[in-house]
Amino acid sequence: MLDTISAHIRVVPDFPKPGIQFRDLTPLLADGPAFQATTAALAERAGEFDMIAGVEARGFLFGAALAQLTGRGLVIVRKPGKLPAATIGHDYDLEYGTDRLELHADAFAPGTRVLLVDDVLATGGTAEAAVTLLRKAGGMVERAMFVMELDGLPGAARLRAMGVEPVSLLHYP
Ligand code: IMP
Repeated sequence: MLDTISAHIRVVPDFPKPGIQFRDLTPLLADGPAFQATTAALAERAGEFDMIAGVEARGFLFGAALAQLTGRGLVIVRKPGKLPAATIGHDYDLEYGTDRLELHADAFAPGTRVLLVDDVLATGGTAEAAVTLLRKAGGMVERAMFVMELDGLPGAARLRAMGVEPVSLLHYP
């Protein structure tokens, strides 16, 4: 099953900047059986949780698919200024500058076990910020799932340091 998934991920050199090998998941989304296999593989490894949180933008795709398969609700973690009702936000540092993630303040009840889902775990900056935000909103986050993880970067270590278990279907150097 994992071979089918990896066969539908392509490397695009020098995107978005020279020197970056971008792993593009659009061929995986475009192939029905491969997309289904991805959702099933995530579900097998998801453990116990009440709701899924998907991170903008590709986390929405895999998060929504997993929510449908497992019958759980989906919370969306968005870039600033996109959500219409009252929000809770978290600002975080990037290599150059800062960014922010937001969540509806009433997205879930305190104590809800939230499973974080995104497409890729790289430096871990996005996932760390999303976990911090979900916890600020009262969520219990114990696991974060990714279709792929870049093992040469500190994402997994950063999550473990916060008491979150990273679970990735595929690993690349
Ligand atoms: P991080 O914050 O450095 O861990 O980067 C993770 C975020 O960047 C995720 O939300 C991904 O969507 C995106 N990302 C980083 N590298 C790649 C890649 O090679 N392919 C697709 N998305 C990537």
